[in-house]
Amino acid sequence: MKRFFKRREFLKMSSAAALAGLTGNLTGDQAPEKALTIEEAARKVGKLPRRKLGYSGQEVSIIIGSGDLADAPKEAGILCGMNYWHKANQWMRTGTPESILKNREAHICQVTVDRVGGDRHTGRIDEEEHVSYVKEALKSTGLGYFDDMQLHYGYYSAEELKKERGFVRAFERLKKEGLVKHLCLSQHGYAGNSRVPGGESMAEVLTAVVDDGLHEHAQFIYSYGADPEMDRFMELARKKSFGTIAMKTARGIGRMKEDEEFMNKLPAGTSPHNALTRWLTTETMLDAVVMRVRNLDEFVDSYSGAGKELRHKDARAIEMMTVQADKTACRLCTKCQPHCPQQVPIAEILRFERYAVDDHDWSKARSLYAGLDRRGDACLQCQTCVPHCPQGLNIPDKIAAAHILLS
Ligand code: SF4
Ligand code: SF4
Repeated sequence: MKRFFKRREFLKMSSAAALAGLTGNLTGDQAPEKALTIEEAARKVGKLPRRKLGYSGQEVSIIIGSGDLADAPKEAGILCGMNYWHKANQWMRTGTPESILKNREAHICQVTVDRVGGDRHTGRIDEEEHVSYVKEALKSTGLGYFDDMQLHYGYYSAEELKKERGFVRAFERLKKEGLVKHLCLSQHGYAGNSRVPGGESMAEVLTAVVDDGLHEHAQFIYSYGADPEMDRFMELARKKSFGTIAMKTARGIGRMKEDEEFMNKLPAGTSPHNALTRWLTTETMLDAVVMRVRNLDEFVDSYSGAGKELRHKDARAIEMMTVQADKTACRLCTKCQPHCPQQVPIAEILRFERYAVDDHDWSKARSLYAGLDRRGDACLQCQTCVPHCPQGLNIPDKIAAAHILLS
């Protein structure tokens, strides 16, 4: 494990140096390697290919950025032609990057809009409040307009989509004023969720959204490993020119990289993130992908695979990663959820476990876990959920371990 610990330390230092603008040599005994500069990182990745985001017609980089991307990878991304910014409203807190403000028309900025009066399970869609929020976000970011207005976390069911049009009305009002251009959503699954009676799976809601025809593209959970329902949805989306962006793509890779035995078995010249980026951007029906990176080293490792051929060794790596991740990391499909008599929010808990174990974002994971109204200690270890998990995960054991980890 020693070798991996050293590398993690170096990655942290390299990122910190770049953020501070120290783009030359790191000095001191700890880091004999030279930290990457933003320009070097951008050169190693090269120009990111672009694709049309469904019938919205927007030409987007196949790897998109996010409002919470750290400064160094963000600037390197811009040099590589990264032009789509999910959660651009996060810049209300941190300030809008000058490089985007001074070249506003070259960028596609998205505002994510949450339900109000509660969290994503209990809050409501509210036309007036959504209009006010977007106007406030525009004032505060100085962006002038948002290209995309996204319903964050999506609809609970096809029925809600049909009956609750407050978000669409808010979009239409803002569009008339020239403040937004395209309507979209990000979607999670709500089937069997105790706080969302009548909730449906991600694929069910997204299929209804495509048939409904008002939203132009969607962002949803998708990663490697068999997912026939989402593959069927993506076929439909492609047929109807509905745009698709995958998120939460790096299932289980954080813990995989700390497993020295597993890493030593990977084919030489591959890495989990690089193989995954190649696969996502060339072997799936996706238009674009969000993949979290924390620093310039991860930026180069992950994004240098964008749009590049999946070599034999990458395909082998993906096979090995699938077997490994299926044993360790929940794909958040929610298939287990309706079968739990205790209504334990299994997928939610295992999503927070991923934030902690894979992304090392412990404070986010713990604070989200603390906000749950039912936690892992409600599990009776009855095993009813287990046969419904396509990965065959030992759900009760994982829930018990997550409870200890996140409490
Ligand atoms: S084992 Fe726990 S999580 Fe699974 S169905 Fe029983 S109570 Fe629910
Ligand atoms: S535990 Fe299994 S069934 Fe439940 S969400 Fe995760 S992968 Fe799907």
